[in-house]
Amino acid sequence: MADVFLTNRQCRQGGTPGVCVVCGKKPTTPVKNRFRVFSHATAQHKVYLVKEAWVPMCQEHRNHFYRPVWFALGAFALFGIGAFVVFALSAGGMWLINSPLVFCGTVPLALLLFAGVVGLVIFGMRGQVAATGLNNQGMYLANVSDEYRDAVEALQQEEEDEDEEDDDDRPRKRRRRRAEDDDDDDEDDRPRPRGRR
Ligand SMILES: [Zn+2]
Repeated sequence: MADVFLTNRQCRQGGTPGVCVVCGKKPTTPVKNRFRVFSHATAQHKVYLVKEAWVPMCQEHRNHFYRPVWFALGAFALFGIGAFVVFALSAGGMWLINSPLVFCGTVPLALLLFAGVVGLVIFGMRGQVAATGLNNQGMYLANVSDEYRDAVEALQQEEEDEDEEDDDDRPRKRRRRRAEDDDDDDEDDRPRPRGRR
């Protein structure tokens, strides 16, 4: 699991390399999603920033963005059925033995049910690809596959190199950072597809 920054250009359809954003497999189809990031809350409302973006997904993961919805519905159903069962057991038990001892059985059952619902929601959100930040330049995505991150960053590097060939009069922040990286560790120095001239 990794984090990545997508430029606005990369948020368009086919803007990023064709490896699955969830698992890194190929082949992929672009999937459009509305990403939401919590901005701030007023007295009445919570305000979210919203951005529509396309990300590549393999066959297996193309419904990934619906997953939280299914888990929420599942948790809701579990809660409804469980609450009914607990209520029925309590009422039936009271009718049968007419003793508060019935609640020694049904209260732990209710707590177990509550833990199950919370656990299901947490499990449903685990590993979910989601936006963590939005700005004028693009969007931060969390929980993406390492393969996707590497592919996106390689593409950004490539685009930057092309820009540098166009107008190379002022030094760029990123280039300085890269120079520092080179000093620090040689291991991460992957060969770039196009050498600088
Ligand atoms: Zn996948």
